[in-house]
Amino acid sequence: MAFAKSVIEAIGNTPLIKLRRASEETQCLILGKAEFQNPGGSVKDRAALAIVADAVARGALKPGGVIVEGTAGNTGIGLALVANALGYKTVIVIPETQSQEKKDLLRLQGAELIEVPAVPYADPNNYVKLSGRLAERLAKENPAGAIWANQFDNVANRQGHFETTGPEIFAQTDGRVDGFVSAVGTGGTLAGVGMALKAKNPGVQIALADPPGAALYSYYTTGELKSSGSSITEGIGQGRITANLEGAPIDFAYQIGDEESVRLVFDLAENEGLLLGGSSGVNVAGAIRLARELGPGHTIVTILCDSGSRYQSKLFNPEFLRSKNLPTPGWLERPLQIKP
Ligand code: PMP
Repeated sequence: MAFAKSVIEAIGNTPLIKLRRASEETQCLILGKAEFQNPGGSVKDRAALAIVADAVARGALKPGGVIVEGTAGNTGIGLALVANALGYKTVIVIPETQSQEKKDLLRLQGAELIEVPAVPYADPNNYVKLSGRLAERLAKENPAGAIWANQFDNVANRQGHFETTGPEIFAQTDGRVDGFVSAVGTGGTLAGVGMALKAKNPGVQIALADPPGAALYSYYTTGELKSSGSSITEGIGQGRITANLEGAPIDFAYQIGDEESVRLVFDLAENEGLLLGGSSGVNVAGAIRLARELGPGHTIVTILCDSGSRYQSKLFNPEFLRSKNLPTPGWLERPLQIKP
């Protein structure tokens, strides 16, 4: 019999899916790693599992202990399912601005959800800093202890991708991957996969796809952390070099505006049956840029981070899109084509 001993073993080993139109357009083979197929519905299940496994191995997390984290949502969903499967509790600090769907999912899983105003990282009341202080307090109050997952600066995150996502991509492409592209939230995916692929073949080209409002495109092209503009894309857009990003091998950096990424999200849904979230659109746009950079005949891999069902109220809401001057998914507004 073939079965996973628990939901934990169902994390990872996701398929690579050929993105037909992006491949045709560039004469390259562009492949998306279907991370939306993880049990928690996103790439962040991997980071959640790696962080919890590391804390358990270090003896920092004991049965009944509490896992505290500041998260845009997906890491919290991953942490909650790992915690529920292994016997821990989850406390999540989330900026109010994140989608209702992600907040609802966290509540459904039994995570304790603390919504806070979205303020910049420099502010002591930023959600990440608040979660760190809360973990310290709960560690003292709770007899079973508490840990701060600290996904941004805990390098167990990128180590998880170094040990799983990267080697999976290399094996699934028979070692013929030429390039890898990813956006950055914590940097765990880009750095971990980048380091793993470079270790197998130093010729693999690694590229960052960055939305407006983030500072990394500027950093990797000019050396200066500078940002301008803004993006509706959730889960990505970093303003500093996190510990996970330190030493990441990045050969190219692209800035991808919302108009470009949103069009790709709608195109993938309508023409390829892939209903994805906004960061996947940024990633696929980055993969197309890298394919053009390297020329025809190359194999480029990127990440399909999570599902569009998580963003019904924003990315797939024509009213919201119009308020941001963005294109709308035509099929949502089309009158009935067939008379009943
Ligand atoms: N896409 C989505 C939807 C995410 O939630 C995240 C993580 N916040 C990312 C991409 C970026 O992944 P990472 O943290 O590994 O950089």
